[in-house]
Amino acid sequence: MSAPTYDLGKLHGGMRLPANKLASTHDPIRKMPLPAQLILPIAQHVGDPALPIVAIGEQVLKGQLIAEPGGKLSAPVHASSSGTIVAIEPWPVSRRYGDKAPCIVIDCDGEDRAIASVTDQPAWESLSANELLARILQGGIVGLGGAVFPTAQKLMQALSCELKYLILNGVECEPYISCDDMLMREYSAEVLGGARILMHALGLDLCYVVVESDKPQALRRLGEQLALLGDARIVLKQVPTIYPSGGEDQLVQLVTNLEVPSGGLPTDVGCLVQNVGTAAAIYDWIVQGKPLLSRITTVTGDGVVHPMNVEARIGTLVADIVRFAGGYTEHARQLIIGGPMTGKAMSTDLVPLVKASNCVLVLSATPSIGAKSPCIRCGDCAAVCPVQLLPQQLYRYSCADDEKKLRLHGLTDCIECGCCDLVCPSHIPLTAEFRVAKARIREQADEKARAERARFRFEARNQRMETEQRAREQQLAQQRDTARQAGPAEIAAILQRKQQQQDGD
Ligand code: SF4
Ligand code: SF4
Repeated sequence: MSAPTYDLGKLHGGMRLPANKLASTHDPIRKMPLPAQLILPIAQHVGDPALPIVAIGEQVLKGQLIAEPGGKLSAPVHASSSGTIVAIEPWPVSRRYGDKAPCIVIDCDGEDRAIASVTDQPAWESLSANELLARILQGGIVGLGGAVFPTAQKLMQALSCELKYLILNGVECEPYISCDDMLMREYSAEVLGGARILMHALGLDLCYVVVESDKPQALRRLGEQLALLGDARIVLKQVPTIYPSGGEDQLVQLVTNLEVPSGGLPTDVGCLVQNVGTAAAIYDWIVQGKPLLSRITTVTGDGVVHPMNVEARIGTLVADIVRFAGGYTEHARQLIIGGPMTGKAMSTDLVPLVKASNCVLVLSATPSIGAKSPCIRCGDCAAVCPVQLLPQQLYRYSCADDEKKLRLHGLTDCIECGCCDLVCPSHIPLTAEFRVAKARIREQADEKARAERARFRFEARNQRMETEQRAREQQLAQQRDTARQAGPAEIAAILQRKQQQQDGD
């Protein structure tokens, strides 16, 4: 077994938080039985929503494409089991912005019949980068670490850069969440298999698989698997347990000591980061022909009877998942999809598990937040910010709706980790304010782009009308010239044609 290495760069800020992961990692991953109904949002990824290609009443099979990519940045959606399409309608969802989204609803027939082509795939070593990317797109694979960026497009962008390293992110630093830890323990072969496919697609010879020091079992399993594989291009790295070292830019800095520039991407410094779950999903699809139809999610917290990790079909209701984990305790008070730092508090459990859902957290009490008071300029928020921002300043600019200064001071680099909130003695809801400000800036940018497109269309129309008018005038002038140069017989013929035209009108 190869020993993990420790030569790490330094992360600015961050915090050591109570992990709260033991309760959900006692037992192996449990497979959830098929639910009676699956609710599949058509927008489970960053970019344009997918476009439904099925009709109500249609019978579908497991793995069948039911919504195709709706734009250049998009991903398809597949039926997670066989059954009948009973609705295509808005449904409550757990995404951060907006409460409802169009979903395709399947009444499962319980037979779980798969389409034939899903079990018939060519060997990945024989595929070119473009062929692999096309297949990864077909599999509906998106970043499973929470960003849900369509993987094929991310790889496509990376191929245009000078890459040095592939980094597999097994740093699951947010408290309570343990699905990646359990995945690395139980599916280490799939994780490393995915790494090899990605290296082949990207033409890379070095991959770091990065895991935090508080996951000894995952480190051991990966090390053993790596020894079996004997692939010296894959290096296991252990990093200290600090939140939020799992952020892409933070991880790049920790592992390579390279700093991703403000507003830039890890590929700007030669790194491509993929979550370990995404790597395993790529292996499952490319090698075993299984599109992304299920995921491992942690269901935990002191509001759940038996905290655990479950493998559930995409589209399963959170209510069913909690029931499978023994139901709510009598003290359950708050439901969060995601972790306590970056998750979303929900008012209903009738929301579907989506590709991004890494955790269902049920807490017995809503954390008490002290009354907000004015900023005392202690600077604690800046000290913990992993992006080296000045949260107190950003907050001021956000309250004043000063977009220019917000951009200038790096709001768009904020990873919404919540560290500044945790340390603020004045209980100022900094992260919530930044989320709203970022959404506002995005909306303004969209609005600007829409106005720009409308202006372009208006100018193009005017130009076309002017060109047509000029052509008509030229034609008229030519006709007049012809008439001027014509003899009496030709004039008579022209007049007769004109008369016939008028009679016809
Ligand atoms: S939420 Fe944003 S501003 Fe606050 S610490 Fe995290 S990255 Fe910095
Ligand atoms: S931690 Fe709170 S009180 Fe201290 S500087 Fe930041 S915003 Fe102000």
